[in-house]
Amino acid sequence: MNKWLQDFNLWLRIYRLSIPLAKMLKNVYMVERRWDWMKLLWIGVDDTDSVNGGCTTYWAVTLMEELRERWHVGLPRLIRLNPTIPYKTRGNGAVAIPVWGDIDIEELADLCRKHLDNNCWLDDRNTNPGLVIVEEIHEKLRIFAKKALRDVMTYEEAMELIEDLDIQHYALRNGRGVVGALAAVGLDVRDPTYELLTYRHPSRFGTQREVDRNSVFKADEIAYPLVWDTVDRENDEVVFTPGSPDPVLFGIRGKSVFAIIRAFLIIRSEEIDKFQLFITNQSTDMHLIPEKEVDVLRDYRSYRLKGVVIEKPYTHIGGHVFFYLETRFGKVKCAAYEPTKQFRNVIRALHPGDEIVVYGSMKKRTVNLEKIEIIKLAKIVDYKNPVCWVCGKSMESAGKNQGFRCKRCKTSAESKIEVEIPRELSPGLYEVPPRARRHISMPLIRVKGKNIHPFR
Ligand SMILES: [Zn+2]
Repeated sequence: MNKWLQDFNLWLRIYRLSIPLAKMLKNVYMVERRWDWMKLLWIGVDDTDSVNGGCTTYWAVTLMEELRERWHVGLPRLIRLNPTIPYKTRGNGAVAIPVWGDIDIEELADLCRKHLDNNCWLDDRNTNPGLVIVEEIHEKLRIFAKKALRDVMTYEEAMELIEDLDIQHYALRNGRGVVGALAAVGLDVRDPTYELLTYRHPSRFGTQREVDRNSVFKADEIAYPLVWDTVDRENDEVVFTPGSPDPVLFGIRGKSVFAIIRAFLIIRSEEIDKFQLFITNQSTDMHLIPEKEVDVLRDYRSYRLKGVVIEKPYTHIGGHVFFYLETRFGKVKCAAYEPTKQFRNVIRALHPGDEIVVYGSMKKRTVNLEKIEIIKLAKIVDYKNPVCWVCGKSMESAGKNQGFRCKRCKTSAESKIEVEIPRELSPGLYEVPPRARRHISMPLIRVKGKNIHPFR
């Protein structure tokens, strides 16, 4: 009976959600077929939220509701930019919305401006909203977007491009949001993923989120690995709900839209006010600069660096683990901070002489590790007293520089023997657990053809 009721509830949800889900799938289909012939306009937006509330994706979803009354709106893009930027709010995500139809650009701009004026969280001095309307994605915009992801771009550089390409724009405060707004429109994402974001009822903003824990674990069991980072099994935590007072209830990330929907139908929670699927550059590692493209290492950039471990890693107060790596740029400090939990055990097991590749962002001249690849482990040897070949016991020292002997059997040997100590690690890729993963970092289950040690 219970099972029957559960099934009934599931079918009821499928019935109730069938129309919005079908519309969502139509949009995915249109993006994947790349309807290039269609005249599209792109609205890019960034930095409408603050640490006290709001979310740029929510701002975009509410704008899309208004846009749909007049024109066609496609699948929006959620683009994560340079994760180390000091003045970002949380995930540093910007949004781009495709619009088409019989568009009067002045009318569209007016609507967007009004929405920006009325719906930003300007309580925080670090909120500097920016909005652009792009009619054609120029090669210069693509280059700018890639730089915004890997480098630190300024407002002045963004304005230069805006004037050069004659892009409609609107900004509040110091206007720094235009950098992300441009990047969200221009970034070329080769291997995109999806995220289904659900939003809370406005009356609940700021209160404790109610999501049924068991249902989330069950959804993960069914949809993993096509869906990832909903739970952290090793640490027994639900990780897909934000901890901040923003409107997001939870976000389901994955490669397959069907797997995401499947997980979505299983999860039970408080009332969902709205939901929206985004196409994203999350879980792509697009922020990492390969070392062949680097001349000098700088703070606020993310790298993939090859090197040799110089000394045994050490644990600092607070549980942070550090070590030094000899690279072609010199000695580089690397860190696995406390929130990376079990990943620190991998780091602690490293040994001088190990050849590795580190993945992570540089801040205060230290690489904050997201992943490591062990290329070659150093051989660790220990010296032990030789073993008697008659009785099989360890020989004893016969005195200084006198060699070793077995008193009982009268056997002797000249020197200690070399014993190789087995290593706890094996070559391959290791990653931080889901709880510590950045939006933009690629989980190892997405890495093909390598010896991987994924964290679930
Ligand atoms: Zn013996």
